[in-house]
Amino acid sequence: MDDSDEWFRTRLAAWWQTHARDLPWRFGRATPWGVLVSEVMSQQTQMGRVVPYWQAWMARWPDAAALAAASKADVITAWGRLGYPRRALRLQECARVVAGELGGELPRDYDGLVALPGVGDYTASAVLSFAYGVRVPVVDTNVRRVLSRMLLGEESRGGAASRAERELAERSLPADADRSVTWNQATMELGAVVCTAKAPLCDACPVASRCAFRRAGYPGLGERRTRPRQRFQGTDRQVRGLVLDALRSLPAGATLERATVLALWQDRAQLDACVASLDEDGLIELLDGGDVRLPAG
Ligand code: SF4
Repeated sequence: MDDSDEWFRTRLAAWWQTHARDLPWRFGRATPWGVLVSEVMSQQTQMGRVVPYWQAWMARWPDAAALAAASKADVITAWGRLGYPRRALRLQECARVVAGELGGELPRDYDGLVALPGVGDYTASAVLSFAYGVRVPVVDTNVRRVLSRMLLGEESRGGAASRAERELAERSLPADADRSVTWNQATMELGAVVCTAKAPLCDACPVASRCAFRRAGYPGLGERRTRPRQRFQGTDRQVRGLVLDALRSLPAGATLERATVLALWQDRAQLDACVASLDEDGLIELLDGGDVRLPAG
């Protein structure tokens, strides 16, 4: 897209104004810390599912200092069923750095943000754009799919972002900072709710009349470079989740006895490996005799 082509930007900005989901961390209602928390929670979980967790989390720990002072057990419990619970511990590590070394304020620059525990390129860019209004491309799976389809007429096949995809994101970004934020949000939102991976809702799409992918007949629609996500049933993720769920349901500080752990899953070898990996990840403490508990501290 060259700079003279304002059509996509105007259409998507207008669509964003009228169709953006009213998520509680949007429209300037959240602090930069709150935006960071929303981005970490949304990384592998749909935003709609994140909302109640984010609200409860921010009510309890409204800033980095509050989260830094929380116990790990409380943090893991509050993460609930968001999945990939190591994210919770990384978020707390991040809070401890922000509270302990940075006076409670998130850095306002890319290098400072990516230096924080658990903050990668995507999260740093999202915080810069959405919390601080900085002109920077925010490149997630949804944005890549939308840009690739509507501007190039090609399917984005997942995996790591290619150089071409990053260049496209940079090239298409409006020069004006405010407009760049809207562009990032609108393309991401379009990918989440309209231009979805397998079944894009082109009849509801504001750019359908000029979409290159639609015009080309949807070549390779839904094709992925990566393998489809592993089914959940029977996986280590499921077993780890069962152990953590059992611990979360106990009173604070209580221990889950070995016999109760063993009753959670039939395959003893898989169960023991999962308990060991949870211990290694710092998500539980494995005690002598095989009892487990959520970590102190
Ligand atoms: S017209 Fe269809 S394929 Fe093109 S951007 Fe819109 S939803 Fe996606």
